[in-house]
Amino acid sequence: MTDGRGGTPDSDGPTEKCGVVGVALDDRPAARPLYYSLYALQHRGQESAGIVTHDGFQQHDHVEMGLVGDAFEPDDIEALSGAAGIGHVRYPTAGSVDKSCAQPFTVSFKSGSLALSHNGNLVNADEIRDELAGLGHAFTSDGDTEVIAHDLARNLLEEDLVRAVKRTMGRIHGSYSLTIMHDDTVLGVRDPEGNRPLCIGELEDGYVLASESAAIDTLDGRLVRDVKPGELVVLDEDGSGFESYQLVERANTAHCFFEHVYFARPDSKIDGSLVYDVRRELGRHLWAESGIETDVVLPVPDSGRAFASGYADAADEDGAETEFAEGLMKNRYVGRTFIMPTQDERERAVRLKLNPIKSMVQGKSVTLIDDSIVRGTTSTQLIALLKDCGAEEVHMRIGAPPIVAPCYMGIDMATREELIAADKTTDEIREEIEADSLSYLSIDAVANALDSAKADLCLGCVTGEYPYDIDGETTDRDVSRPEIEGSSALADD
Ligand code: AMP
Repeated sequence: MTDGRGGTPDSDGPTEKCGVVGVALDDRPAARPLYYSLYALQHRGQESAGIVTHDGFQQHDHVEMGLVGDAFEPDDIEALSGAAGIGHVRYPTAGSVDKSCAQPFTVSFKSGSLALSHNGNLVNADEIRDELAGLGHAFTSDGDTEVIAHDLARNLLEEDLVRAVKRTMGRIHGSYSLTIMHDDTVLGVRDPEGNRPLCIGELEDGYVLASESAAIDTLDGRLVRDVKPGELVVLDEDGSGFESYQLVERANTAHCFFEHVYFARPDSKIDGSLVYDVRRELGRHLWAESGIETDVVLPVPDSGRAFASGYADAADEDGAETEFAEGLMKNRYVGRTFIMPTQDERERAVRLKLNPIKSMVQGKSVTLIDDSIVRGTTSTQLIALLKDCGAEEVHMRIGAPPIVAPCYMGIDMATREELIAADKTTDEIREEIEADSLSYLSIDAVANALDSAKADLCLGCVTGEYPYDIDGETTDRDVSRPEIEGSSALADD
């Protein structure tokens, strides 16, 4: 679990969320499509990668630390036989940073075998773990996924699959997009608030579940739709279709807006919106709210690119004489800034990663556009760099509101103490990063670009009020969690 400050005890900084996949095919091995789809989701986790398949008789698994490309040898893929399987890429947000928490998590029990891949973070895992441990369940990791696996295994001893999932959903709280394999049946489950993404795709000879639609594209599949908040999807074993069960319904969703701002691939469609379009729209709002006419508009690559192109288009439509320029070059072989363990190394990494094209900034006024400011490392470094290269003024525009509070739902942004906006005004931040001006986007603009009511978004990191009941934090809604209200044929429980 998190350390209560929104960071994990084991990780020094913000982490990414995980990626999950599941595949059920007619009679072709599932391992290769799973492997390709994990490649497509590599941005969601680089700590470990794993695949579990089922051949109708038994499970086969291969789970390794590291990147997808390093975790699997051709022989490993060959050995993963069976037309059904699930996969996972992980960056830890709960539990230790070692193989005991790598996924898919597997468990064998009296009525079969289970494998689970989880993206998200439960807020009551400790409670359920204590209860199950008291009943004799032995836990091998400190992660919350094992808690879900044990709870489900226990319910499966008494109930059929759908009722068992429903019962577990009534007990676990927090964010979870899951792919599950019970023997050779592949399921997808999305938490009732729909905090993390999960979608369904159709292949020529089967169906796929994935965190992001880009994974479905990679398999030449067709995006069917998102899994609905509170829905269970069961893929047919012969790959011919799927069954849907709306197990839990809530008045409001709590979709994570930061998926659209930073995490998800721009070529993914999440909850009906193409991430790239949303980012461009956010950029247009940014111009409308705080546009400033400068000689050039520079995106911070790659995160600020779509925002800057929307911003520059809107500026152009308003007749502003400002040129959009790719003036910062990125060394694509440097890992993500946040993986660097110390502040000193993080600062060096920014310099290694980005280099300005001097002629594009020398003697010019510059608007620098990024998606977000977390600790302020990137913006401080880049503004100093641009000024060193002769930029006369640097105006910073950010495509998200100030991040004032930690994320407990699966994105370890940073601890509250590390967040630059946690206790500073925008003007104080401007001074600290030494920008000539600084503006963030409003929360209203985010809701508008996402075409969503604010009440249907998780805005915890920008408001400090969460859609879940978290110790020591306030909530923005009724979190009394009515026990499983029925909407389905299973309402008789
Ligand atoms: P910072 O340098 O700490 O202010 O972080 C801001 C930069 O990190 C921006 O360029 C973002 O695109 C990127 N970023 C934002 N959130 C995260 C995150 N949770 N993990 C990794 N990078 C992030």
